[in-house]
Amino acid sequence: MQVGEVSLSNGRTYRIERLDTGTRTASAKVDGDTIVIKIPRMLRGEAGGRMFARLKQRIVSALEAHPERFEKHTLTFHDSEELMVGGRHFVVRIEQRDRPYSSAKVDGEEVVVRLPVSVEDSDKEGIVTRLVVRALSREFMPTITGRIDEINRLHFNSEISNVTIRNNTSRWGSYSRKSKKISINFKLLYAPAEVIDYVIVHELSHTRVTSHSARFWRVVEGVIPDYKERRKWLRKNGDFLGKGNRTATVS
Ligand SMILES: [Zn+2]
Repeated sequence: MQVGEVSLSNGRTYRIERLDTGTRTASAKVDGDTIVIKIPRMLRGEAGGRMFARLKQRIVSALEAHPERFEKHTLTFHDSEELMVGGRHFVVRIEQRDRPYSSAKVDGEEVVVRLPVSVEDSDKEGIVTRLVVRALSREFMPTITGRIDEINRLHFNSEISNVTIRNNTSRWGSYSRKSKKISINFKLLYAPAEVIDYVIVHELSHTRVTSHSARFWRVVEGVIPDYKERRKWLRKNGDFLGKGNRTATVS
């Protein structure tokens, strides 16, 4: 339900929506030009109103301070951009040459992208992003599969047929019971190792329990007793992964 509007000093206006939900935690997020504030239904009357006011104030000041962090999260890379991925530092180098096809590779600290001169400026960003994601995924694949194998051997002993790293927007990881494949979101490469481990354990736990039932979370907790902290970190920082939020830590 829309409950108001707020205009920032940069001239942008956001609708404010309040949702009373069955969840236990209150939250606020920006979705396009709407600020969505969720208040647990059990916080009735004034308590709910106070929580709403506090969250609204907090998110509006965050928007004033760092509006770019709330823009719709799509990864893009530009020439000379410095990245901190998988705990390593990289510089993106884009070269346009007289050649028939495009390619990208990791060469030491550089991610070198080569494009034909025929590529139009309007297509460049999309192509560069796909190529950089592909090159970095290839680079970190051994690390990710190694970690999955290690955790699997120590705690699960499940059959995993294949691992992929994908730049998808909606999920941090997935496991297919049918194909026994695990997929990990590319953006997690920007997250601390403990958080990546949590997602790996989460997906491996699905080899035992399909649903997110109490039994499922007991399996997760058996491997990572502090999984709630890591999950919370991901909820809080996940949207900003790959957007220069490099100093965040698990707290
Ligand atoms: Zn799950």
